[in-house]
Amino acid sequence: MTTTQATAVITLHPKATKNTERRHPWLFSGAVRSVDGKPADGDIVRIHLHDGQPVGLGYFNNQSNIRVRVLTWDINETIDDGWWANRLQASIARRTPLPNAARLVNAENDYLPGLIVDKYDGWLVLQSLSMGIETRKTMLAGLLAELLDVRGMYERSDIEIRSKEGLPADTMGVLWGEAPPETITIEENGHQLLVDVYTGHKTGFYLDQRENRLQLREWLKLLPASDEMTVLNTFSFTGGFTVAALAGGVKRAISIDSSAEAIDLARANVEMNGFAVNEEDFIQANVFDVLRDYRDEGQQFDLIILDPPKFARHAKQVQSASRGYKDINWLAFRLLKPGGYLWTFSCSNAVDMDLFQKIVFGAIIDAEREGQIVGRLQAASDHPVALTFPEGAYLKGLVCRVV
Ligand code: SAH
Repeated sequence: MTTTQATAVITLHPKATKNTERRHPWLFSGAVRSVDGKPADGDIVRIHLHDGQPVGLGYFNNQSNIRVRVLTWDINETIDDGWWANRLQASIARRTPLPNAARLVNAENDYLPGLIVDKYDGWLVLQSLSMGIETRKTMLAGLLAELLDVRGMYERSDIEIRSKEGLPADTMGVLWGEAPPETITIEENGHQLLVDVYTGHKTGFYLDQRENRLQLREWLKLLPASDEMTVLNTFSFTGGFTVAALAGGVKRAISIDSSAEAIDLARANVEMNGFAVNEEDFIQANVFDVLRDYRDEGQQFDLIILDPPKFARHAKQVQSASRGYKDINWLAFRLLKPGGYLWTFSCSNAVDMDLFQKIVFGAIIDAEREGQIVGRLQAASDHPVALTFPEGAYLKGLVCRVV
């Protein structure tokens, strides 16, 4: 039992009172006036305002610029194993009935700062993003094993952001139970999809696009049937949108990704769901190059999906990221047939919906086309955004129609 009664006290500067009033879960080093007691990194600390008034409890990390992540604003709570079990259970309960594959814990947005838990059929994949979670991950895995009927838990803490917490950025391995198979078959929107939790991006799969894939499929079903219709799924990863498009009745869906493993899984996913596999529709290449080639060849498509990786990792990269987004959106608008649709996404935190819409606007002007926004997209509902944590709203998308 790792009961951690807080003894150390973090006292904040007077100017930090506005942070606590806003209930933001991060207290940066600049907000801390003094540290009393000798908390180890990861320890629970009491948070006091400058006048000594206690306001909350959180975990401490002297190696991180985020000096404290707040766990509760109720100073009467005790952060023991039971507390963690309650928070995990509440997060899981919010997803009930549990889908076959879903995000069960979305870190700060589920009031469990620094912890990601994804479920893939009978396995969990955990990601620890902070020292406070790192020092408790074995305990947390044990609690999850009591709450859920799973075969094993694998850790995918191979993410660069951990270096900002003083943690290695290459931590991977079995945390509890059996090792997952090489690929796990999950069910999403009634389809089977293969997930490689060992080498796939993030925790193995982009669960955040599940509801958008469903929306694409249902929306395509409403269109008049046509044998001509071609969907271009760029940055396809393992072809989640490709399967959704084919299930929506489209005869041809082309997947492009720079990762050979992703393209192999995309092909396997199409085949596994009973759709015909045309070898030339699975392209391992740089999307920028392929789009330019299509433009030079005068190719046209009915619907293009642009779901690129995070172009801006932080605010300083917004300008160059904007150029990247504009470039691909400009090319995509050039490649759309009149009446065609663009499903365009950005998962950069630093690029908000307003800016993204401006970039897409700039792209259509440069492409000398006319268009409308007919839909706005965000991450699936198992990736909630806590209102106190606007940073949680990273994924944004626009559905545009070229007229
Ligand atoms: N739409 C996908 C997720 C896309 S993630 C889904 O629904 O699952 C972004 C993908 O872009 C990754 O698979 C990555 O391998 C790929 N990628 C990154 N840069 C690329 C580039 N320049 N050209 C092609 N693919 C790229």
